Amino acid sequence: MSSEARTSTTRGAYAVAVSASGHGRAAIARLRRWVDTRADDDAGPEAADAGRIDWLRAIPFVAMHFACVGVLWVGVSPAALWTAAALYALRMFALTAFYHRYFSHRTFNASRGVQFAFALIGASCVQRGPLWWAAHHRNHHRHADTTLDPHSPTLRGFLWSHAGWFLTRAAFRTDWARVPDFAKYPELRWLDRYDTVVPVVLALILYGFGAWLGTAAPQSGTSGAQMLVWGFFVSTVVLFHATVTINSLAHRVGSRRFETADDSRNNAWLALITFGEGWHNNHHFFPGTVRQGFRWWEVDLTWYLLRLLALVGLVRDLKPIPAWVAAKARG
Ligand SMILES: [Zn+2]
Ligand SMILES: [Zn+2]
Repeated sequence: MSSEARTSTTRGAYAVAVSASGHGRAAIARLRRWVDTRADDDAGPEAADAGRIDWLRAIPFVAMHFACVGVLWVGVSPAALWTAAALYALRMFALTAFYHRYFSHRTFNASRGVQFAFALIGASCVQRGPLWWAAHHRNHHRHADTTLDPHSPTLRGFLWSHAGWFLTRAAFRTDWARVPDFAKYPELRWLDRYDTVVPVVLALILYGFGAWLGTAAPQSGTSGAQMLVWGFFVSTVVLFHATVTINSLAHRVGSRRFETADDSRNNAWLALITFGEGWHNNHHFFPGTVRQGFRWWEVDLTWYLLRLLALVGLVRDLKPIPAWVAAKARG
């Protein structure tokens, strides 16, 4: 080999090594975002691939679904089922009452302690931090069913609005400009930045609880692995899909009481599984009230529970439905 050929081979190998280490660094930086979301903010929404699904970043989300198949191995017990159901109910309430009606729409007031307690429960739902959630939701209301809506089924299809949009590079960022009112709390910013911490702690607690129960009360028929699969994975995945039906189905299936500029619908079935969020056409017409069921028969479990919390002084200043909106709802 001539010396010229050798030099060019060396240069080629060097270029490959540099590019490989560059790719390696980029992959490590992207993996870091699984545990520290601040890197998402640095990524910038302008990148050419900002609107495409980031599959590396999406691995934990996909893996949670596969983990549910574990029910085939761990079996089932009343203790595991009750735990899964109780965690669904508690966390659905945290999402609808706090992530949605409090952080996104400010339809009632709460102390900083109560605000943090429910932000913490909300963070265990693996739907990221309260600031990320509220910022995207405020953008949804501003631009509902236009090209700027993060999750319109009318424009981008059912699957995208249900489980595609939030896996893109652009959507992993928190739109800080949209939530200055709550971004001033360092404890909320912490939950947003390290949004895997609370879910991991919940998973560990559930494993420990199941292992303890299986030993202390063998007749319960449970184990650490069984409690982890049912209490964490199954409960969280079902909770996720129930929640996002409001982005997908509640803009597609149901009736329209109000002629809003978007395609929102009222759907009683969705209202039942989401504790009141299915009255989505009501909500788009007037998002400024804590209630989403506008008639007495429009079941809105979150509203009933918030009234109870107000009675015992944990929340206050629940914003009612204005008289003119109630009159319009009666037709
Ligand atoms: Zn809303
Ligand atoms: Zn909507």
